[in-house]
Amino acid sequence: MVQYLATPGAGEVGAILSALSSLPVNAPLQLMVKSPSLRKNLTKNLVNQEDIDWMDHPNRVLMKVLVAQLRKRCALTSIVDTNKSADKTSAKHALALAKEGMVKDTYDIFETKIDAPFEISGMKLHIGIQCTFYKNIRDLQIKSKQRRLTNMNMARTLYAIGEANGATPTSEQSLHSAYKIGEFWDKILHYENRGKCGLCSLPESMDHILLECDASSASRVIWKAAKDLWLKHENSWPDICFSSILRCNLITVCDSYGKEKVGATRLLKILIFESAHLIWKLRCERTIKFGGDREKYHSENEIYNKWIHAINMRLKFDRLLTDSMRYGKKASKIDTVLKTWSGLLKNEDDLPDNWIRQTGVLVGMTPRPPPGRLR
Ligand SMILES: [Zn+2]
Repeated sequence: MVQYLATPGAGEVGAILSALSSLPVNAPLQLMVKSPSLRKNLTKNLVNQEDIDWMDHPNRVLMKVLVAQLRKRCALTSIVDTNKSADKTSAKHALALAKEGMVKDTYDIFETKIDAPFEISGMKLHIGIQCTFYKNIRDLQIKSKQRRLTNMNMARTLYAIGEANGATPTSEQSLHSAYKIGEFWDKILHYENRGKCGLCSLPESMDHILLECDASSASRVIWKAAKDLWLKHENSWPDICFSSILRCNLITVCDSYGKEKVGATRLLKILIFESAHLIWKLRCERTIKFGGDREKYHSENEIYNKWIHAINMRLKFDRLLTDSMRYGKKASKIDTVLKTWSGLLKNEDDLPDNWIRQTGVLVGMTPRPPPGRLR
């Protein structure tokens, strides 16, 4: 179905989308934006617009696509006012192209489908006043017949953050960690620069906290531990960038014939999610619980031990979730859990092949002693 998107302002959004599609996601980008409302909607008004699902925005469809495309980027993207930019030559050039665009005979076609992890649909419950809710619900029903909203699940469907979790939640997520994941992804998607990094004083973005900060022992120790554990299972550790964290639910690991390796895929998702989540939690402890007092910051051994603890908790949950007596159809498949953790366990040779019901099963990485203890 062709949707006609030629509303005022659509040209500038379309131009940015074309530029984004021709650039690698890891190249830093400075966008000179002429329209003040577009600049605001991409920065300080973004959270508000998403809360109401861009309801009254004339370029609602394109704006959602644009924001999703911008979120896919893992390098710095900055937005400047064209009029205030020192680069007058580029501004002139852009204006000339825009004028050419206005008299074109053919129209441009843009992909309006958004990859699942970047799609935020629905509006926040407390934001919606009744009439906007009905308008939004009607809109949703017209647009996607397959998404049959019933009164029963409407609240959940419309709750934006729940929907921002990434790919469709699996039964396993909804069983034990939907809240944790939801809360974390909400932070990731809405994290703005709140000021300077408490470790190195550079501007603090989620990307910086999780991956970029050179002064962060948490990021260094945790990603190394994840890599070390992974290498007991597989041959090479993938490059982790911000977009692989955002999209970790969609990752698939395949063998040389292109067939999905179920256990490896699952393990990678667990490692990326648990690692990113722990780095974020430690950052919150540093700034909130310890109030920025460096004396109290976690030592490398503490960080390493917390990571091992987090992974062992996942392993424990995984074992418990195979209990079909308790979880019925939602129980995890024993075979998948065995495949996920095979080769990674402590004293694995001494365990029976089906170790699911054994107590005390742990990953084969030893916690480190605290400093000062005699060995
Ligand atoms: Zn930093």
